[in-house]
Amino acid sequence: MTPLLEIKNVRCDYQDTTAVVDASFSLNQGARACLLGPSGCGKTTLLRAIAGFVPVSSGEIYIDGQLVSSPDVMVAPEHRQLGMVFQDHALFPHMTVGDNVAAGISSLANKARRALVMTTLDRVGLAGKIHHYPHELSGGQQQRVALARALAPRPKLLLMDEPFSSLDVELRERLSLQVRELVENTGTTCIMVTHDQKDAFSFGQELGVMGEGKIVQWDSTYEVYHEPNSMFVADFIGQGVYLDGKVIDDHTVKTELGELKGKVPLGCRSGCPVKVLVRPDDVVHDDESTLTARIVSREFHGSNYMYTLELESGTKILSMVHSHHRHAMGEQLGIELELDHLVVFKDLDAQARMQAQA
Ligand code: ATP
Repeated sequence: MTPLLEIKNVRCDYQDTTAVVDASFSLNQGARACLLGPSGCGKTTLLRAIAGFVPVSSGEIYIDGQLVSSPDVMVAPEHRQLGMVFQDHALFPHMTVGDNVAAGISSLANKARRALVMTTLDRVGLAGKIHHYPHELSGGQQQRVALARALAPRPKLLLMDEPFSSLDVELRERLSLQVRELVENTGTTCIMVTHDQKDAFSFGQELGVMGEGKIVQWDSTYEVYHEPNSMFVADFIGQGVYLDGKVIDDHTVKTELGELKGKVPLGCRSGCPVKVLVRPDDVVHDDESTLTARIVSREFHGSNYMYTLELESGTKILSMVHSHHRHAMGEQLGIELELDHLVVFKDLDAQARMQAQA
C-alpha cells in the first residue's frame, strides 16, 4: 500500500539555521500522528515543509505517491490537497462563519457549496452559527470553524499546528476529543504539532519526538512512553526517575529495589553501570510490602496523588497512587515495583569515571 504521506531524508535550512535534519517517516491513510518536541526543535518547519511553505534542501516529500517537494520540485500549497489549522484560528473577521467555511470550496457550484458548508458545520456542531461573525464566537467555537474550513474541501491530509494551545485546559481536552472523533469518522490522515504531551497522547496514535532538528523516535504513543529509545525521549515524555543499577547478565539488573528482569542494552556486560527508568505508574502502593520508602512530598491530582518517595539511599522516586489512599508526609509507604519491562540506558558518566580510575 502506498503511504498517504512519505517523508524521505528531509532537510530544511533557513539562511543561517538548519531547522530539520534527515527526517524520515511515513503515514498510512487514516493515521493520526503528533510531532512533539522542545521549543525550536523544528516541528513547525517540518509541518510547513509538508504544506509547501518551506522548501527542502535535500530529501523528498510524497503525498499519496506524488512527489511534492524535493530540491528540484516544489508543488504549491494549494495543489497539495491539504487542510490546515493553526493556533490562532486565522478566520476572516469580516466574513460570516458560513462564508469562512465556503472560502475553501469556491470552485463548487452555489447549491453544492451551501450544502457542503452546512454538512461540515453540522459535523463540528456549529450549524446554528452559520450567520455569525468570528468575534461573536468563543475561542473553541472559532477553532471548530477553522477545522470545518480545513475539512470542507475533503483534504487528503490535515495539518494542525498547536491547534488547541490558546484554549484553556478543559476546553482543549474536550476539543481534542471532538477533533479526534471527527478525523476518525472522516478517515482523514492527520498530523498535529504540539509541545503538550497530554495533547499528543490523547490525540495521536503515532508519535514523532523531535530534538535539534532530528526525529529521535517515531513509534506508537504506547511505545514512545513505555519503550523510549534514549534518555532524551524518556526525559521529555512523561515523568520518571532513574535508579542506578549494575548489569548481572543479559536480562538482569541489580538495583537498590532488588534484581529487575528484562532486556539489557546491547554492549552492557556484567558489572556495567546502567540507569533504570522508573515511571510513577511503575511504583505501586502495597501495604503488605516489606519494601518501604518515606513520603517527602505529595501532590493532589484529583483522581490520584503523586508521591515523591525517598529510598534508604536518599534516591527519590515517584509513585502515582489512587487518591482514596491518603498518606501523611514522613510516613513510610509500602511499595512494589511493577515493571512490565525494563527501560535501561548505559550510565555513560559512571562508565567514564570507571575508565578514568582504571
Ligand atoms: P516552537 O515549539 O517553539 O514553535 P518548533 O519546534 O516548531 O518550535 P521551528 O519553528 O520549526 O521550531 O524552528 C526551528 C529552528 O528554525 C529554530 O532554531 C528557529 O529559530 C529557526 N527558524 C524558524 N523559522 C525561521 C525563519 N523564518 N527564519 C530563520 N530561522 C527560523
